[in-house]
Amino acid sequence: MSNTKTKKKLKVAIVALTSCEGEQFVMFDQGEEFLKLTEFLELSEFKLFEEVEAEPRYFDIAFVEGGPLSKEDLERLKEIRGKSKLLIAIGSCAVLGGIPEMKNYVNKDEKIKYVYQYTKHINNVEVKPLREIVKVDYEIPGCPMDGKEFLRIVKAVRKGVFNKIPERPVCFECQTNNYKCLLLDGKPCLGPITKGGCDAVCLYGGYQCEGCRGPLDNVNLENHQKLLLKNISKRHLSHLLELYGIKDDILENQRKEK
Ligand code: SF4
Ligand code: SF4
Repeated sequence: MSNTKTKKKLKVAIVALTSCEGEQFVMFDQGEEFLKLTEFLELSEFKLFEEVEAEPRYFDIAFVEGGPLSKEDLERLKEIRGKSKLLIAIGSCAVLGGIPEMKNYVNKDEKIKYVYQYTKHINNVEVKPLREIVKVDYEIPGCPMDGKEFLRIVKAVRKGVFNKIPERPVCFECQTNNYKCLLLDGKPCLGPITKGGCDAVCLYGGYQCEGCRGPLDNVNLENHQKLLLKNISKRHLSHLLELYGIKDDILENQRKEK
């Protein structure tokens, strides 16, 4: 009997907090390649796939997507953290705060009135990346995450290898693929300040990078900002940086550098 068959499989939980569940669909999109992971992973909790009657008391790895946008989400996140040896945040909402973090940049108590008629019992929490609430062992960014990157990382993590996502901008993949630089047409692309690894998929479609994989460490926003402000207003730029919740990360990085 081969080693793979005799070795105990790792118990895995795939958990969605408030989200579009896009990361789980990315997993399904990998088809056979995703199913092959079950040679060494046991999908012990994967509600989108099937209802699990009794949740195990322990997981080797929990993949968590979405954000804790309610009291129940917060409790669930802490519960999963307590039960899991490793917790891996997947997707922009879990890694950066993502689209819901836009509300942190406005008066959330005012804005909630646009959505709900009665707001008294609505949790209107501050949106935060998971790492600001519980210990996160690894992060896979993207909106949604890149399926091939996910498969690669899972296989490495299984062997105890936690490679850092390369610190090179989206421009690297964009130019390697010979796409025309949108900055030349005055379009506000965030590629130079955004962590690559998505194969510049938006640029392939002729669409600018909006920073869903988060900012590069030590990014110099000031230089890029000067360039972008030649073609767009400060307000437009501010909205762009708020889209996936990267504005506060960039400001925090700049604060640390001073
Ligand atoms: S289009 Fe965007 S990602 Fe591509 S090279 Fe230009 S700035 Fe970089
Ligand atoms: S090009 Fe930018 S916005 Fe598009 S997937 Fe890559 S990092 Fe995200």
